[in-house]
Amino acid sequence: MPDAATAGAILTIDLQALASNYGLIRAQARGAECAASIKADAYGLGVERVAETLAEAGCRTFFVAQLDEGTALRRQLPSAEIHVLNGVPPGTERLFAEHRLIPVLNSLGDIATWAEFGRANGARFAADVHVDTGMSRLGLPADEIEAVSADPGQLADIEVALVMSHLACADEPDHPLNRRQLEAFRAARAALPMGRASLANSSGVFLGSDYHFDMVRAGAALYGIAPVPDQLNAMAQVVRLQGRILQVRLVDSSQTVGYGASHRVTRRTQIATVAVGYGDGFPRSAGNSAVAVLGDVRVPIVGRVSMDLLTIDVSDAPGAMARVGALVDLIGPHNPLDEVARDACTIGYEVLTRLGPRYHRVYLGRGRDKA
Ligand SMILES: *Cc1c(COP(=O)(O)O)cnc(C)c1O
Repeated sequence: MPDAATAGAILTIDLQALASNYGLIRAQARGAECAASIKADAYGLGVERVAETLAEAGCRTFFVAQLDEGTALRRQLPSAEIHVLNGVPPGTERLFAEHRLIPVLNSLGDIATWAEFGRANGARFAADVHVDTGMSRLGLPADEIEAVSADPGQLADIEVALVMSHLACADEPDHPLNRRQLEAFRAARAALPMGRASLANSSGVFLGSDYHFDMVRAGAALYGIAPVPDQLNAMAQVVRLQGRILQVRLVDSSQTVGYGASHRVTRRTQIATVAVGYGDGFPRSAGNSAVAVLGDVRVPIVGRVSMDLLTIDVSDAPGAMARVGALVDLIGPHNPLDEVARDACTIGYEVLTRLGPRYHRVYLGRGRDKA
């Protein structure tokens, strides 16, 4: 990791905020268990520190996407319950069993693979059955749910931990698909009553207790993304990204800034160049649209974001602040993650998972909130 003095940006991850977000989701989900989604390096925030913090905050159950994420997490958390979302490719069964990972079975093929592995070993290994209630992505569609229900022998050699599904529009509370998926999930549950039930992601937790079942699977909200986009965000901000100013220059004639000459200066303007670009994972689409903050002055990103640099108009900031070496918030208290993501025409999830390795990372607090 680049050190603080030379890095182009400082990425600060507030583990105390993460722990308090976990407590908030758990309170909101009430009776249901609150599992954490920590796939993709915990949404880019660093899975080791995130998992450690969540475990200290009382989280016992984790979801990752890939087998390798599961085996790495197992080394760190010997007693956690670890679910692997992307299924069980034939040939990987033994690794799942060795590391006590629970595969999410996404197809009849996955079910057959896992059942055969159980039979071959004279044991019933734990797995989840994923039913598709409206994503048309992974999971058994309705006709396959019926087929398994009619021939329960397919599951006889599997210890079903969860029957689960995933919501497509949970962040739009009024979307009719939410209700339809809830009804479809209830029907699937009636057909497959074994194990526990889980439907809600972060936003799903806020659709009401009907959606909670036995376990919720929260990711985004833990990391500060608003679970209900049009409401005041109740989640604490976990991420701050501060870029370093490399140079400040006065542009006092009509000139353009950056590649493509996409921004034209029309008044005496101070342009600061910041050592962060799309090569760091900062969205290129933030150019000419998102806002950085210097102190508490909003300073727009002008011109295109380039690979290692971006440019901001600091004319409205006090001269003493807009100086070489100063740090400017690209994501911070006055320009939170969701706002930057929206301005860059993307979502907080994508901004987080692209946070690159060139940032100097600082982890704050040690999340010891225990609910
Ligand atoms: C990623 C994921 C989650 C977590 O979703 P968030 O919106 O980040 O809370 C839950 N369930 C499944 C199946 C997922 O893929």
